[in-house]
Amino acid sequence: MQFRTRAIHVGQDRDPATGAVVPPIHVASTFVQPDASMTAAYDYARTGSPTRHAFEKTLADLDGGVRALAFASGMAATHCATLLLAPGDEIVTGTDIYGGTWRLFNRLLAERGITVTAVDTSDPAAVAAAVRPKTKLVWVESPGNPLLSITDIGACAEIAHAAGALLACDATLTTPALSRPLEFGADIVMHSATKSIGGHSDLLGGALVVRDPELGGRLHWLQNATGGVMGPLEAFLCARGLKTLELRVLAQSATALRLAEWLAAHPAVTAVHYPWLVGHRGHDIARRQMAAGGTVLSFDLAGSLADARRAVESTKLFQLAVSLGAVESLIEIPAVMSHGSYAPEARRAVGIGDGLIRLSVGLEAFEDLRDDLDHALSPA
Ligand SMILES: *Cc1c(COP(=O)(O)O)cnc(C)c1O
Repeated sequence: MQFRTRAIHVGQDRDPATGAVVPPIHVASTFVQPDASMTAAYDYARTGSPTRHAFEKTLADLDGGVRALAFASGMAATHCATLLLAPGDEIVTGTDIYGGTWRLFNRLLAERGITVTAVDTSDPAAVAAAVRPKTKLVWVESPGNPLLSITDIGACAEIAHAAGALLACDATLTTPALSRPLEFGADIVMHSATKSIGGHSDLLGGALVVRDPELGGRLHWLQNATGGVMGPLEAFLCARGLKTLELRVLAQSATALRLAEWLAAHPAVTAVHYPWLVGHRGHDIARRQMAAGGTVLSFDLAGSLADARRAVESTKLFQLAVSLGAVESLIEIPAVMSHGSYAPEARRAVGIGDGLIRLSVGLEAFEDLRDDLDHALSPA
């Protein structure tokens, strides 16, 4: 079956008790056992719950995995994956990554005995040079954030596996509708379901998806031991979001590409970062790995931080907010908003300038979004 058929039918069985075509939201925290040996399918909702499980089944199928685990947020999912490491182990990661992941790795884990080495993962040679025997996890994000750099997932999987490490890929910006990193050799896929999977800016959630049942079992043990699980209402909303995911991200990607092309010709803009633009450094790999360019793009403004502030504060449709991937368009300045947790020198060193503006393109009409930006970018 095709992706969008599976998104609607796999894991989403009708309710046998009532015939309801949508599975019910099970809110129970505990489940009656037939006897004291705890052999029922469900016992306590931190360990597993039917509504969460239904979403996990759909997502695992869409990502080409054998098991998905749903978490209270993307960061809870990422943190759980890092619990596979012990003090003395090393993570090799990218420089163009989500600000919260940067904070977790460089501020929290680094202080707890885990070595964190950040390289430009869009250059496989840099990844190969960074991995060492103590590297246990290579963590990549493609497209990167906020510069939309493209990492060759297959090449990084080979490098990680040759070093005895796992490859994890934060696939929040692509979603399984645009790219399935497990098919390119990744061991773990992470999604912030808060973004395109939920898709309507009304929930927090995250997920890990794996293709090895043994690794899935280890991660489930860690998830149950630490407890950052997704609640039933969020699981229901995420399962509903998956049903329209492909339609939404393809339509949003088409608008994002038109805006990227329009911005590239705008006199106030010095550079546009969008993988579907011919001339983007990772364009060829993006074409191989992705079905469309995605809902996020960024661009550099010729002026200073003050000019960028004036621009993002004067749009009407693009709302001034972090987050991405939902039906409503958002605008932000990474330097002071989504990536404010980078030290200023580190931030500038990786290319996140003061005049960089990030857009999340929603489902509004292209013409309306273009006019909104045109107004905001015109001289005061
Ligand atoms: C939002 C986001 C995260 C973190 O997810 P939360 O749900 O906010 O915890 C991780 N990676 C990327 C790329 C994100 O956009």
